[in-house]
Amino acid sequence: MTRSDSPAGLSQLIARGLRKRCPICGIGRVFRSWFKMRDACPHCAYSFSREDGYWVGALIVNIAVAEVWFALLFAAVVLATMPDVAWQPLLVVGVVTNGLLPALFYPYSKTLWMAVHLYFVPSARSELS
Ligand SMILES: [Zn+2]
Repeated sequence: MTRSDSPAGLSQLIARGLRKRCPICGIGRVFRSWFKMRDACPHCAYSFSREDGYWVGALIVNIAVAEVWFALLFAAVVLATMPDVAWQPLLVVGVVTNGLLPALFYPYSKTLWMAVHLYFVPSARSELS
């Protein structure tokens, strides 16, 4: 079922999340396509189906990544172009990236959320289907 019997640490769970792999075994793919999740891990049968409200955490992760990206972009452009700040290019790049980034980060927000949740709620490991 798992590569080892010992539970994965946070860094290993995060690495599995960044590879879009099952947080339990690290082998099974969580997503069937970019936006479509599997119901369970094809390798260890860990269920990816969760109760209502569970994925709000993934939504928060996704929004946080987009907001941090925009804050860094904003600070970099303002500091690089002061005193004549390039507002128009900043607006265009900000709108485009804030529209695309959540879609591009969508699967990672879910797999990273599962990883963090599993780290802080280890009892979720027993939810094999
Ligand atoms: Zn698995």
